[in-house]
Amino acid sequence: MANVLNEEKKQQVLALGRLGWSLRHIQQTTRIRRETASAYLKAAGIAVRPPSGWGRRAPKPANEVITDPEVNRAARHPEWQLAYCAARLALTTTMRACELRHLRWADINWESELIIINKSKTEAGERVIPLVPDAIAALRDMQKRATEFGTLLASHYVFGSCEHGNYDPTRPMRSWRTAWRNLTTAISCSSCGLLQRPTPVCRNTKCIADTKELISPLAGLRFHDLRHHAITELAESGEASEQTIMALAGHVSPRMLRHYSHVRQEAKRKAIQVLSAPVRA
Ligand SMILES: [Zn+2]
Repeated sequence: MANVLNEEKKQQVLALGRLGWSLRHIQQTTRIRRETASAYLKAAGIAVRPPSGWGRRAPKPANEVITDPEVNRAARHPEWQLAYCAARLALTTTMRACELRHLRWADINWESELIIINKSKTEAGERVIPLVPDAIAALRDMQKRATEFGTLLASHYVFGSCEHGNYDPTRPMRSWRTAWRNLTTAISCSSCGLLQRPTPVCRNTKCIADTKELISPLAGLRFHDLRHHAITELAESGEASEQTIMALAGHVSPRMLRHYSHVRQEAKRKAIQVLSAPVRA
């Protein structure tokens, strides 16, 4: 049992490492000592982010993982497409899983490229979020999918209920836990390319390559990490004030708020370093 738990923690460390999180941040989130986390990442060939950040910060590391070609291919699987669209939205809007599940087509203003969130677990959750191109693309994918099932009404849920293969857009989907688990564990055989659930031997009977060592590029990534990552990125950019972050993300727990304001302070500290640089003529 302990080994299973350890393996899960390890996969989580690897996923966060791929997202470019610092060791300190990984330790805070997973409660795995940074020395251990560093050893996991090195063994998996993932570069460890130094405490001061990368020399030149990679643009949107979370987006890189989520747009990995292998993940993209997995997302075309009809069962998993939904979880993938939800992930892209969480990453680009800071929306929570429960907010995404309650999102209706009427809440989207295509013309002004906005989402208006009415229903949330807190009052502070009522907010307007501008849509970036990838968020719009994810919504268009969901729209296309919905019209394949029938007429799309404004009152319908973007992530409609789908139980035992019965699609009902008049009710919100209960959970995408299964789809999310499938999406974050899917592997692609290195010999024949077949996309499949983790297995010791490729399921393609003509291939049967050894697939024991393969892991999904999204392994261990929790859905909530996406929102967290989006907010951290906002804070790190130094472009958004605390009020702006709150206006976009809605309610943030005091502990998370402290964390985000610390990230912002660090960004400001870095920005002001230019003032101490010698003036050149
Ligand atoms: Zn194969």
